[in-house]
Amino acid sequence: MNVRVSESLNEEAERLDAADPLAHVRKRFVLPAGQIYMESTCLGPLTSSVSAAVREAVDVQWGRRLIDGWWEDGWWEAPARAGDKIGRLLGAAPGQVVVSDSTTVQLFNALVAASRLRPGRKVILSVTTQFPTARYITDSAARMLDLTVRRVPPAEIERYLRADGEAIGVLLHEPVDFRTGELYDLAGLTRAAHAAGCVTVWDLCHAAGIVPVDLDANDVDMAVGCTYKYLCGGPGSPAFIYVGGRHQNVFDQPLPGWNGHEYPFGMRDTYQGAPSIARARIGTPPIISMIALEAALDAYDAVDMRQVRQRSLSLTGFFMTCAEELLTGTAASVATPREPQRRAGHVAVCHGDAPKIVQELRDNGVAADHRPPDLMRFGLHPLYTTHREVYAAVCTLRDLVV
Ligand SMILES: *Cc1c(COP(=O)(O)O)cnc(C)c1O
Repeated sequence: MNVRVSESLNEEAERLDAADPLAHVRKRFVLPAGQIYMESTCLGPLTSSVSAAVREAVDVQWGRRLIDGWWEDGWWEAPARAGDKIGRLLGAAPGQVVVSDSTTVQLFNALVAASRLRPGRKVILSVTTQFPTARYITDSAARMLDLTVRRVPPAEIERYLRADGEAIGVLLHEPVDFRTGELYDLAGLTRAAHAAGCVTVWDLCHAAGIVPVDLDANDVDMAVGCTYKYLCGGPGSPAFIYVGGRHQNVFDQPLPGWNGHEYPFGMRDTYQGAPSIARARIGTPPIISMIALEAALDAYDAVDMRQVRQRSLSLTGFFMTCAEELLTGTAASVATPREPQRRAGHVAVCHGDAPKIVQELRDNGVAADHRPPDLMRFGLHPLYTTHREVYAAVCTLRDLVV
């Protein structure tokens, strides 16, 4: 490699890290020694506050107070508390996000509830790039409701909405392509869907904690997302669901569980949904995971999403600069769009031997992941990834692909 190029990239990395206003947050994370961890696209790392919170929840709350924990330790309100913390990151006012169940379950809930808000419209519109679990849920929901699913390339959504909008009840979409990291225009697509009279459901798994989505300002109807990727809630931490205030008292919950009843302790024979976001709750929440999630979200305290976005763009942009200098002429190429407004939190690199190279990267201290057939994903987390790590990761990659 050209020594002059590598020296100037190294200096650039140091300069960018030194000027980083979020640098102090990295200390909150428990990062693996000797490894550059770039797999927040799958599972975010532990934050140090989680260990103590979980120990206290188990030993003191459950161990000593047992059932009184539901009230004395605030277990009952934990889904709403964690929801509000996440809501701040999503541009949602308090009382519109709740944490409950898995993304897959809440996708089903949101999609069916949204379809029921547009009776008579027979089409669910989604994208050809849809995430697998969302795809399976969409197909099943459509069979149950006697609807048709139409999947179009992301670039064609607006055209379909204009041409066939009156048949479409729901637009179900992901603002970030989970493979390439391409970022779509959530605001513009939500406006276009509303102009056609459709309800919007957004799957925010690769956006939450990374890109500002401004759900309230954009008038989004419903959204769901996981908490174990960039939000670092831990393996299998429960998902979140956002229901815009105007729908909370009218949406017809397809999984009407006692936790979402207006009188959950009334033991009534018929379901009467709570007139609030609580209606999106289903059954008894997993409290230990909830407590871990709440503690993990502390890493975002006092962090503004605009700062997060700025830092994220700096990391992905620097990755691409390094790739242009170091990977040009190799068999590896960046698959993520170069324009800032079209990229989110990870950079995808395309190579015919991606699975093998991901394994070799790991053997050489860089944890990235592979998505079939030929993509490697590098998740750059604005709260702990450094530009020096980005530079080191691209250098390691270069040594493996030349
Ligand atoms: C990770 C991810 C999911 C995960 O669903 P789970 O029910 O949590 O397993 C769903 N949708 C998208 C777009 C994802 O990236």
